[in-house]
Amino acid sequence: MEERNYRLQAVILHNRDYKENDKLVSFFSSERGKETALAKGARKPNSSLRSLVQPFCEVEIDFAKGRGSLDIITQGQLSNAYLNLHNDLDKIAYATYIMELTDLALPEKKAVPAVFYLLLATLTMIDLSDELFLAARFFELRLLAVLGVAPILNCCSGCRRSIAESTFYLSPYRGGLLCASCSAEQPRVSAGTVRMMQYLATADLKKILNLKINNQMGHEMEQALEVYLNYYLEKVSQAKRFINQLEKG
Ligand SMILES: [Zn+2]
Repeated sequence: MEERNYRLQAVILHNRDYKENDKLVSFFSSERGKETALAKGARKPNSSLRSLVQPFCEVEIDFAKGRGSLDIITQGQLSNAYLNLHNDLDKIAYATYIMELTDLALPEKKAVPAVFYLLLATLTMIDLSDELFLAARFFELRLLAVLGVAPILNCCSGCRRSIAESTFYLSPYRGGLLCASCSAEQPRVSAGTVRMMQYLATADLKKILNLKINNQMGHEMEQALEVYLNYYLEKVSQAKRFINQLEKG
């Protein structure tokens, strides 16, 4: 028999207003993946749930089984509020993007513990460092790997040509790189950018924080991954659009 009450460690993905005083809260836990629950009264100014259900907070939440499909958040406590993050527009934009990618990439109630720990690592990176661009690329590449759709980056997926011998298109259809002889599609990535992506996909997080990416490499990587992710998510991220506008501004 399923328990009536239970507790989860979770990251809040987003919330939205529901009825007069309530909020519907989307969160991600290691044990149960992405889910939505009801926080009754959370829109009232004096509600203790109000601060608990803010996006990008890491929380320990107690739930009660609801009568319908929605369980009810009864109480909880903040494990990590990522305080720097809430006071900085750029950090908020990047954290919102990470939450949105998680939401788009995973179905409800699919437990993928690796995504939970990836979320915590990336939120910490956004909170404590100014390497927001790196944090986003790190998350994108590792999320693709966890989902089993990591691009193959060691050679051309068409003719096996080495990455040193061409520029490449990162093809979502092929799940990897295509050299100039195999595809003329844009955007292109250089060998240096491919190596940087290999590194971001595999290296230790501490080493990644010390990386310096030049503007051209960064731009190539960002564009290539955007095409790749849009294909897999079958949707364009709204938060990414906003970041693109921030960068232009
Ligand atoms: Zn080729």
